[in-house]
Amino acid sequence: MNDSEASQLRLKASRFVTERQRLEKSLLEHQRFLRGSLLERPKFCGKPGCKCTKGQPHPPGLCLSRLVEGTVRQVFIRATDHERARKEALAYKRYRQALRRWRAIDKELNIIWEDLETAQEEAYPFE
Ligand SMILES: [Zn+2]
Repeated sequence: MNDSEASQLRLKASRFVTERQRLEKSLLEHQRFLRGSLLERPKFCGKPGCKCTKGQPHPPGLCLSRLVEGTVRQVFIRATDHERARKEALAYKRYRQALRRWRAIDKELNIIWEDLETAQEEAYPFE
């Protein structure tokens, strides 16, 4: 039994537990996601004489790029949907980040629980 090691491990574990709870709260939020990455693309209509042919592109178009069955698919986002698409794509990114962190913490905690078991084990007969 190693009291100081055990108390260090408990401290470490309780920090991870707190962080994990915070992540779980955010993962449980009601949200809508747009999966994929949004890319801004300069728009060139190509009409002869248009300003875009003279190096002044139109406002950039927004494009959703995502992997579908192993291939990259791109779809244009309507201008009226830009705001919502950006919001939902960002929410998706944040969700994935939180999930990645949650999984890392889960791994850490698994190790800590094992170590804590060892650190708290007593020899018998008691000293
Ligand atoms: Zn043009």
